[in-house]
Amino acid sequence: MPVGELQDVFGGVEAEVPSGLADHLRDVALVDHHVHGVFTAPLDRADFEASINEGSTDPVPAFMSQFDSPLGLSIRRWCAPLLGLDALASADDYWARRAELGPDDLAKLMLPAAGVSRWIVDTGFKGDLITVPERLTELSGVPSSEILRLERLAEDLLETGTSPDDFPDAFRSALRVAADSPDVVGTKTISAYRTGFDIDWSRPRDTDVVAHARELAAQPHPLRLASPVLIAFAVHEAAAHGLPIQVHVGFGDRDLDLHRTDPMLLLPLLRRLTPVPVLLLHCYPFHRQAGYLAQSFDNVNFDVGLAINYLGVRSTGLVAEALETAPFAKQLYSSDAFGPPELHVLGSVLWRRSMGRVLGGWVRAGDCTEQDAIRIVDMIAVDNAERVYGV
Ligand SMILES: [Zn+2]
Repeated sequence: MPVGELQDVFGGVEAEVPSGLADHLRDVALVDHHVHGVFTAPLDRADFEASINEGSTDPVPAFMSQFDSPLGLSIRRWCAPLLGLDALASADDYWARRAELGPDDLAKLMLPAAGVSRWIVDTGFKGDLITVPERLTELSGVPSSEILRLERLAEDLLETGTSPDDFPDAFRSALRVAADSPDVVGTKTISAYRTGFDIDWSRPRDTDVVAHARELAAQPHPLRLASPVLIAFAVHEAAAHGLPIQVHVGFGDRDLDLHRTDPMLLLPLLRRLTPVPVLLLHCYPFHRQAGYLAQSFDNVNFDVGLAINYLGVRSTGLVAEALETAPFAKQLYSSDAFGPPELHVLGSVLWRRSMGRVLGGWVRAGDCTEQDAIRIVDMIAVDNAERVYGV
């Protein structure tokens, strides 16, 4: 099996990044606070190209290749050497080499190159296609923690025979178990996909919850929770149990109404929620709103994961904008990688490179010391996640 090497993440921009900051950014082991598993089965090229497009749910059309995108260029630049190829090997050469390797070989080659010290894994999406957290740990050699999806939990309870009358208490006891588990460190809501954020976020009464649970349970299986009442219930209950809450914000596939996922629409929720840590995920193109909310609410934090990968070389601009408003104690690193292990590596490489270029510019202009820049890196890379999740 060919074993390649990660290129220096500051290749071509050495002059922009002071050497102490560069060394620190090369070495710092990241907590990836929002990530999924890697594919368990081999892919054909069409499936691979579809898996490096977030927005579309259709096959890649014949007139184009998804390699011809910012993410595609970044894969050729940074991942080709990991497969023993030259940086920027052609898409065809990349695919030919990649296709020689099985999913486990690819994961073992790429995951360690991400330089991550802990994965905080969302298991709620297409769980049958991707590795469970234990397997991600085996393949990468670093520990994993788990995030519990609130909508999935409610659907599971009603699909496995919990009566609608018992649903509120059953949901609460499942959250109690999660809160006591050493493996589960938080929850997540995908209300962005199910209702949008412009809903009534007041805490519903149990009688209303039971009525909506009854409606949902009568639907054909698999159930798809899309009731604003049940979502508000789930989020308030998670907070009442002291569990951190991740919220998918912005960028996702076209099933969501992107214009209804501006985090400003969460103000009515944030004003009345028990103040557990709230993690606004991805946020692009609303990352400036997210930064404002992180400044305005002590319990609100955010990341720009997923978009870093999809912006590729332009992720430097995104990382710069994410450093505009929010206190540095309120931003976290994530890749939001799902499927191809290229995404687990690239999130890390592009973030390190962008942080070096942006903060390096601040240091060179005299706006902060190199020591300040290193502290900012540590907060976003590690410290904030450790504080928020208690890991
Ligand atoms: Zn995700």
